[in-house]
Amino acid sequence: MQTYSSDALVLRTYRYGEADQIVVFLTEDRGKKRGVAKNATKSRRRFGGGLESLSRGQAAYVEHEMRELVRLDRIETRLSPFRAASGRGTDEAAHVLGHAAYFAELLDEWAPDNAANDRLFRLGAAVGEQLCGGGAVGALARYFEYWLLRLEGVYPALDACPRCGQRVLDAGAVLVLAERTYVCTECAHGGPVLSAAAMKFLREAGCRTPAEIGAAVTDPQALLELERVHDRLIAMHLEKELRSARVVRELRPEL
Ligand SMILES: [Zn+2]
Repeated sequence: MQTYSSDALVLRTYRYGEADQIVVFLTEDRGKKRGVAKNATKSRRRFGGGLESLSRGQAAYVEHEMRELVRLDRIETRLSPFRAASGRGTDEAAHVLGHAAYFAELLDEWAPDNAANDRLFRLGAAVGEQLCGGGAVGALARYFEYWLLRLEGVYPALDACPRCGQRVLDAGAVLVLAERTYVCTECAHGGPVLSAAAMKFLREAGCRTPAEIGAAVTDPQALLELERVHDRLIAMHLEKELRSARVVRELRPEL
């Protein structure tokens, strides 16, 4: 048996027996882990109310050979979406918490067990930080989805249209889901459309930090177009729709 300590993001928890919880968490250095947190529902000292989705902190855990579940001894929480949302209005707080759950569920689907994925961890940590810090939630969500798919190598190319090989996609593009590509509007035969503003957002997302995206003002229509397109790409990639994605849509304050 061996003890580890690592920067970690909480992805999911569920009850286990009377007072214990199973915690799924993403460590910076050793990938995704599942741990038993003994007496977690009662111990504020060891878990300090930091077991909500996308909470970040230093996790201390013990691994036993031949056992899949680790023993999670404590998490010293540094950042908690729950705490960040508590000072805000009801709708905004629900919006932040809904997205924290959504980001955590995506990370849970994407992150490999027991194998470090440094870029995925940093993406989750940086977007979580901006979400807690009051960054623009919709823009952060589209940025997160873009990078998640891009890190996986499945985001459609943004440069020239692959059908005609000529027209650049700056003026707008259409998703061809079956081919996982964006084509120019002249080559497309129906499908979800991205406007010039949405294409601009994507190109900027490629070279900006979450802090820059969270502080910028983005055209709401462009974000809506991107949400529809990303939903389809993610559903295709995961071969299912995420529960938290539906919750987030229902919570959208502008509707
Ligand atoms: Zn074309």
